[in-house]
Amino acid sequence: MARGMEIRANFEEQLERFFELLEQSVTTGDPAWMDPILLDWAKSSTETELEEEPYHVSFLINRMIALTIQVTRESLNKQEALDLLAAVIPIYSYGLEVVARYEMETRVAHISSEMDKVQKQLKRVDRSKSAFISVAAHELKTPITLIEGYASMMEDLMRAGKGVNLDSLLAGMTTGIDRLRAIVDDMIDVSMIDNDLLKLNFQPMQIGQMLEALQLEAEETVKHRRLTMDIRSFNGSKQWIYVDHTRLMQAIRNVINNAIKFTPDGGTITIDGRTLSGFIEVIITDTGIGISQDDQAIIFEKFGQLGRVDLHYSGKTKFKGGGPGLGLPIARGILEAHGGSIWVQSPGYDEKACPGSTFHILIPARAESPDSDMTRIFSALESPLDKEKDNG
Ligand code: ADP
Repeated sequence: MARGMEIRANFEEQLERFFELLEQSVTTGDPAWMDPILLDWAKSSTETELEEEPYHVSFLINRMIALTIQVTRESLNKQEALDLLAAVIPIYSYGLEVVARYEMETRVAHISSEMDKVQKQLKRVDRSKSAFISVAAHELKTPITLIEGYASMMEDLMRAGKGVNLDSLLAGMTTGIDRLRAIVDDMIDVSMIDNDLLKLNFQPMQIGQMLEALQLEAEETVKHRRLTMDIRSFNGSKQWIYVDHTRLMQAIRNVINNAIKFTPDGGTITIDGRTLSGFIEVIITDTGIGISQDDQAIIFEKFGQLGRVDLHYSGKTKFKGGGPGLGLPIARGILEAHGGSIWVQSPGYDEKACPGSTFHILIPARAESPDSDMTRIFSALESPLDKEKDNG
């Protein structure tokens, strides 16, 4: 209401100015007196007006001509009306011409700035496409070289006809193939997230169990790298909630693998958590090299690490073994698909002082599946949620 009155007061002021200048033009016979207000009006179009109604000032002047004729006819005698219109109409026509020109110029400027924006976007897409190809090629090359090496060693041994044991060579090939598959799977996941095709399969689970399973998975690497993985028991870790178990585990695994990768041997990774209203927060802290403020802003973007091809070692757990930069974007996509979020805190990047990083993962604590069929199936089977309720 207040805004409406403000617009009206402003409009009345503008009209008053318009008629003052019109009078000035009629008295002096010089329509150029109208220029400042015509210019102001023509240039004041907002983006939306330009998109939806490009020539609205011309339209306004046309309406004012019609109104002037009407008012003149109603309040003056014929001769006076004719005299006034004869003086005013040429100025209005001049106004229309000027405004049409200004509006056209504003519109052309608007269109060319829009085209500029599109062109810049296209260039960015093009750059990230070619950067993607170079990182993808680099990432895929390492396991391919590995597989090639083992294959040629096997070939040599077979040709030599020696009855050798090929187990270790086959194991090496399998490692390379697994790595290839993991990279391609990550690429597929990113494309599904980008295209909103990630389908979640909600089932009840406890975060604590999931963390224990992830700890088991990482056990060997943790031992090998002499790390300590400390999983705390926190409020909410035993709560049954509906999530896509496989996807959420993948997201947390990506964060844990990074904590392992970016923490020097002998460091500590602590996994803690807490309940917040409607959410369970998992907090993963490491004593690693930390992340600069600038990087914190880009690591959740896909290929955020593109500028740092030096980091692409194709290592899943090796210290500082940067990958294609898809782990965190995938984690974020999965959490956002659940209605949760992920963010990082770190005092900065320092390989010597190792200030560490803390990743916060916010997971909605759903007591029911958003997928009603799932809820029905689980309630028919007497779900663990009921058992939990009965027990406690
Ligand atoms: P990738 O590990 O494949 O490079 P991610 O998306 O998983 O891609 O991580 C992106 C980048 O974020 C990493 O390359 C690294 O520079 C940085 N990063 C992620 N987690 C950590 C961490 N815990 N400590 C330090 N840097 C990290």
